Amino acid sequence: VLSLIAIDGPSGVGKSTTARRVAARLGWQYLDTGAMYRAVALAVLRAGISLADAAALEGLLAGLDLAQRGERVFLAGEDVSEAIRSQEVTRLVSPVSALPRVREVLVEQQRRIGASGGWVVDGRDIGTVVFTGACCKVFLTASPEARARRRFLELEAKGGSPVFDEVLQDQQHRDAADSSRAVAPLRQAEDATALDSSNMSLDQVVDWIVAKHQA
Ligand code: C5P
Repeated sequence: VLSLIAIDGPSGVGKSTTARRVAARLGWQYLDTGAMYRAVALAVLRAGISLADAAALEGLLAGLDLAQRGERVFLAGEDVSEAIRSQEVTRLVSPVSALPRVREVLVEQQRRIGASGGWVVDGRDIGTVVFTGACCKVFLTASPEARARRRFLELEAKGGSPVFDEVLQDQQHRDAADSSRAVAPLRQAEDATALDSSNMSLDQVVDWIVAKHQA
């Protein structure tokens, strides 16, 4: 059994904030796998390649240089932490992450990083594919409205003027795409415990996961 906490769930459920806090409490490291798919989507956008162009994609993956240090994400040494959160990247990331070769390359990197244990890893397929032997698997959910509300407030806090219905729609598109793709669709692992955080504070969710891990 690998001492690693896998946190999966749909978009906007607060996985990364939760995972980061759980890691800090345990003195473990945190891996944001969504950031890795986002960085590939950014690289695809910048290179201007078509997702149908297998040879161009293979070239891009062969030269892929990804790193995470603390809360920052680097692509070929450049800090892309903000760039990977843009709306353009957010819209391209689901089709990019549905490509089998992209998943193969990133899953291999993720396994190499987490193999030693002592990691909290969040994503969509961590408990079902990447680290099936993880000691602790959580499937974090919240109602679509609760998730869209949090995302809406987050965008507002950043100084934007989001439209709630658009935020909700984008989220539903991404959920539908992530759940229906052929390779590693979003679903709860059989040995994962589901936690509905709709009516829970961040502190309560963090406490619950730490307690489950220590149980
Ligand atoms: O978690 P985040 O919203 O940043 O993830 C961005 C996208 O990356 C998801 O919508 C999904 O398409 C993809 N993803 C994935 N597998 C993971 C993590 C993220 O397919 N383990």
